Amino acid sequence: MSPDGTSSNSYDYIIVGTGIAGSALASRLSQRRPRRPRRPVLLINAGEESKDKPLVPQLLVALMLRGSELDWEYESTPQKHLGGRKVYEAAVKALGGGSVIDYGLWTRGDREDYETWVKKSGDSKWSYDGLLPYSEPQVWASASGGTPLGVGDAIKCRSKVERIIATNAYSMKGISIQTNTLVSRVVIEQQDDKKVATGVELANGKINNVQREVVVSAGALQTPPVLLLSCIGPRGDLARHGIPQKVESSKIAQSLFNHMNVKQFWKLRNPEIGAGVGSEKWDDLEYKGANPQDFIVCQSISKTGLEPALAADEDGVRDDHPFLNGLRCHVETFIQYPAVNKESPAPRPDGTHIQSVVLTVLPTSRASVRLKSWSPEDIPLIDSNSYATEADSHNMRKNLTKVQQVFLDTAAGQQMIVGETMTKELMALSSTSTDDEVDRRVQQTAQSIFHPAGTAALGYVVHADLKIIGVKGLRVCDASIFPAPVAAHPMAALYAIAEQTVELID
Ligand SMILES: Cc1cc2nc3c(=O)[nH]c(=O)nc-3n(C[C@H](O)[C@H](O)[C@H](O)COP(=O)(O)OP(=O)(O)OC[C@H]3O[C@@H](n4cnc5c(N)ncnc54)[C@H](O)[C@@H]3O)c2cc1C
Repeated sequence: MSPDGTSSNSYDYIIVGTGIAGSALASRLSQRRPRRPRRPVLLINAGEESKDKPLVPQLLVALMLRGSELDWEYESTPQKHLGGRKVYEAAVKALGGGSVIDYGLWTRGDREDYETWVKKSGDSKWSYDGLLPYSEPQVWASASGGTPLGVGDAIKCRSKVERIIATNAYSMKGISIQTNTLVSRVVIEQQDDKKVATGVELANGKINNVQREVVVSAGALQTPPVLLLSCIGPRGDLARHGIPQKVESSKIAQSLFNHMNVKQFWKLRNPEIGAGVGSEKWDDLEYKGANPQDFIVCQSISKTGLEPALAADEDGVRDDHPFLNGLRCHVETFIQYPAVNKESPAPRPDGTHIQSVVLTVLPTSRASVRLKSWSPEDIPLIDSNSYATEADSHNMRKNLTKVQQVFLDTAAGQQMIVGETMTKELMALSSTSTDDEVDRRVQQTAQSIFHPAGTAALGYVVHADLKIIGVKGLRVCDASIFPAPVAAHPMAALYAIAEQTVELID
């Protein structure tokens, strides 16, 4: 029986996944809204409640939750452009999804990024201004005004010294929640001439029926498996696993993109001043609940180098190419004050080091998520295909070189650091390193910063109202719907997408 007294099979809405988007959506849907009655909502999540776990509220220790029981700890397939390495991809299964272990950085991106969303969806509600009215609720607080270029404040999603988890930011009161429950598929039935979502099947075989609609919010890596197992997808991919096709959708799981980053650890010349986390002088409580960093640098890569790179990838490039249109933010850089990095050997956070992080934020490489088998328990095959394009490599080279210039060639950099601390297989970089040398470093060390998106994209897999094309009563609301990358950390956009989606649902 649910908290509002309805029986387990009489939910108006079932939401699969209680991550950032799913939590916000469920909360708003279950509240009485103007002109709309309150509706029974069932949330189903693979993981458990975790907001009260002692490690979760504080950032530095929350980073260590990667690879814990709260993380599926996915890995990509061996990556052709990263020397055959597999890349770790965090996939949080706790209630609250990514917000449980994320860094809490809060950026909106460039308004131009969202113009691509408008073009792909044919609907201005997905423009920067279209999403802005949904930026008022409690968790929105960004200073970014749609033109992120330059040095900006690193706004964090936190309250006082605690990180904000989605299921804390939004009230879960009155919502039925099934935790530790894996959904295997959405049940699709033929009714007259329509395919209709009538419920969801759990991995244990039980079925929950739905009266109005199912919303899949399982995240960009896990929404595709749920849809494919629901017999929605490209015929060939489904047939490979003996899954009959009910709905053709050739782009599901096909346009994955992600933000990749390269980190470097820099040894401080004067650690006694307390510039690094772990130093005895480091006692600023403010940094406990958020990412220990103060600013983000967003830069545009010059057309002179980027245009030929895009032309090489795209067999010629027009002057109105969106990435050449005005000063777009192609790369982001920030300095963090701890030296912690779970993916590769790094100095301990003892106050002696800081780290630089360089991200390519408008990647053109596209990738895929495929089923490993028909079993919902199996981890999907993630081919992140990172740095497959010359444009992505070019942007990363330019930005990494700039970081070497800042630290190694300027008086301020030399005053601040002694040099880079690195593992012995790496070759030292400098501002005069060749493209091959920089590429080698990228191959050896590039990692995901955990922003996968685009696997059930607006305009391709879902209509502008986020309903799956070809099915009645089935929507997607999570990072899968991004039709193109945004030069931002995705959380701010995701909360706004969820808030806007509530308005689209009767
Ligand atoms: C370590 C880390 C740091 C990050 N830092 C930042 C940052 O600083 N700023 C920022 O903006 N973004 C950050 N992100 C990214 C951000 O957290 C994600 O983009 C965001 O969580 C995606 O939200 P979502 O709603 O699409 O899905 P998620 O939040 O991933 O939620 C999906 C939910 O669905 C559930 N689920 C999945 N499959 C099933 C199934 N079959 N049945 C039932 N439940 C299922 C999962 O348990 C999960 O709770 C970070 C992510 C990570 C992992």
